[in-house]
Amino acid sequence: MVDLKSQYIKIKDQIDTAVIQTIESTSFINGPVVKEFSDSLAEYLDVKHVIPCANGTDALQIALMALSLKPGDEVICPSFTYVATAEVISLLGLTPVMTDVDPDTFNITAELIKPLITSNTKAIVPVHLYGQSCDMEEIMDLAKEFDLYVIEDNAQAIGAKYTFSDGSVKNTGTIGHIGTTSFFPAKNLGCYGDGGAMFTNDDEIAKNLRMIANHGQNMRYYHKVIGCNSRLDSIQAAILKIKLNHLDGYSASRNKMAEEYDQNFSKIPELSIPKRQYNSTHVFHQYTLKIKSELRSKLIDHLEANNIPVMIYYPVPLYKQEAFGNYVVDGFNIKNVEELCNTVFSLPIHSEIENSSQDFIIQKVKDFFNNN
Ligand SMILES: *Cc1c(COP(=O)(O)O)cnc(C)c1O
Repeated sequence: MVDLKSQYIKIKDQIDTAVIQTIESTSFINGPVVKEFSDSLAEYLDVKHVIPCANGTDALQIALMALSLKPGDEVICPSFTYVATAEVISLLGLTPVMTDVDPDTFNITAELIKPLITSNTKAIVPVHLYGQSCDMEEIMDLAKEFDLYVIEDNAQAIGAKYTFSDGSVKNTGTIGHIGTTSFFPAKNLGCYGDGGAMFTNDDEIAKNLRMIANHGQNMRYYHKVIGCNSRLDSIQAAILKIKLNHLDGYSASRNKMAEEYDQNFSKIPELSIPKRQYNSTHVFHQYTLKIKSELRSKLIDHLEANNIPVMIYYPVPLYKQEAFGNYVVDGFNIKNVEELCNTVFSLPIHSEIENSSQDFIIQKVKDFFNNN
């Protein structure tokens, strides 16, 4: 689905030098490059604080821990997302309340969230799925009305921009009280191992996030709260610092590929191309189409027989996962999400595709519909 090897080869000299320098410095943990990268990312995102951590799941967990929520407090999140979003809510003894998503943008909306708000609701975790922003202005207005925190799970959309109705533009992950991201290798800004970060413009929240990620200490060996150990190591930071300079270029390549797919697939009546959220840019972490459920497995078999990777993100609504059985009654089902799990599929999209490889994928998709 991604070509990390070709991407590395293009920046190999810079990366190798930076990695070796970091090893030679022996500042493996909390080396100066960790702060340098965090500062560069803060500047890129135009956000006051970037707090690095060990991975995107920890980022979500620490974000929730920083809000002093109580067991039983309800946190609203989509039921169509990667498991991490809801997992950390449950892990902290909070109650995940899973929403439906818009069938065309795949994202949660204020309209879908509002009926689920109760007196126990304390936070909303919107996920900018596949690389474009949720309609954040409406979600922030709703959060303000009901006094709720908003934590944006930005693991799939780093670099996407959202435009408010007054014309102002913000980066996804910097709109809510806290934003989180993942530097997992296959993400749009990926390192060569695990990594993550949290973003906020709130000084007090930033202090809490830093403290929690560092064993709850505000001074060495003085522990104010129960925290955890979650760090971005120096080698990963050195790699990310270089890759951040290429992020906009990577997003542009992904967009070019998406446009090429769009042009070809919009002519195939059995396929629905991904809809763009009108007030967000898209960074195409995934290029996800919809197809009738009867045809999906046949098409996937056909593409796989031609060595074209295809993925289904996500095949099962979170509320149907055994792990979340306690949170839903039998037979619970949400219309759009059920449908999406049966109809979505994602094609390869990344920064390094050769025209000929994309042409091959497009041709094989077309062949399928010509013969079926
Ligand atoms: C990848 C991802 C995460 C988790 O990130 P890790 O670094 O793998 O822990 C969380 N949420 C979403 C939406 C993701 O895609």
